[in-house]
Amino acid sequence: MRLWWHFRLRQSLWAEFMNQKYCPSLHPCFADISSGVSWTWKRMVAIQGVAEQHIHWALARGGGGWNERRLSEVVPGSWVGRIMGVVPPSLDREDSMVWAPSISGEFSLASAYWISREGGNSSWLYSRLWLPGLPLKVSFFMLRLVGFRLPVMDRLHKLGIHGPSRCFCCLYPCQESIDHIFCTGVAAKQIWGYFEGVIGGFRDSYTLRDKLVSWWLRPNRNRYMLYLFRLLPALICWNLWKMRNSFVFDGHLRPVAQVCAAIFGDLRDIFLNRFQGHMPFGQDWPGLYGMVGGMHRVSRTLVV
Ligand SMILES: [Zn+2]
Repeated sequence: MRLWWHFRLRQSLWAEFMNQKYCPSLHPCFADISSGVSWTWKRMVAIQGVAEQHIHWALARGGGGWNERRLSEVVPGSWVGRIMGVVPPSLDREDSMVWAPSISGEFSLASAYWISREGGNSSWLYSRLWLPGLPLKVSFFMLRLVGFRLPVMDRLHKLGIHGPSRCFCCLYPCQESIDHIFCTGVAAKQIWGYFEGVIGGFRDSYTLRDKLVSWWLRPNRNRYMLYLFRLLPALICWNLWKMRNSFVFDGHLRPVAQVCAAIFGDLRDIFLNRFQGHMPFGQDWPGLYGMVGGMHRVSRTLVV
């Protein structure tokens, strides 16, 4: 964690070297492990998700104003004007990186120690979001989702930014919230239901966190199945988010069946990539689920 902090600070020759070597044209948060990299870098990438949760920025130099063009690339046009109305800070110093767990804002080994040994719910929850084979962009999206840091309407309203508040998914639109988009809304229910129906044994969830935990805690002795129970919820959430964004930004509502097919496609691709040669793959979700389950039986038979 200490290495990651110094790497992100970029105040040493070593940090500059690592940045140039591993993410010359990439934000460090999107850096990945490719073959042939050093052990130090592997260890750093392994801890980056935890470390980044505790790195904040104290903004000082606003640069005199907002970059309207870049803003309009990331938020809807109707918000740009409102954001432009907020005066950015204009202190005469650089933005600085802050280590949130310490009072001084400086990194300390003691605080890192407490974070790493923290056994509480939230660190367990966050630790579920890093999974080999799952694209990092999806892990980072999940990190923001579980931390309620996505720009959905109920959050933006609290920040004083107003836009259309109706959800994309219901006949009688509701207030858009994270739990609604990802768990209790009509589209979310249909999509979770499609995948859960094949597995069976799921009860209703009223919050996204409850939904995720009900997947992650499903007991199973088949390691492929455990992998699937961790992977699939992230893919469902990621595709629900894309479905919501294509409605909000492009006015296009994708049919639920199409989104389910996209989720299945992502799932099959990741399984093929990771376990190629280990198992055949079904052409649809019930088929794939049956084969992943069967993998357990085959391997146990061989062991006996
Ligand atoms: Zn809805």
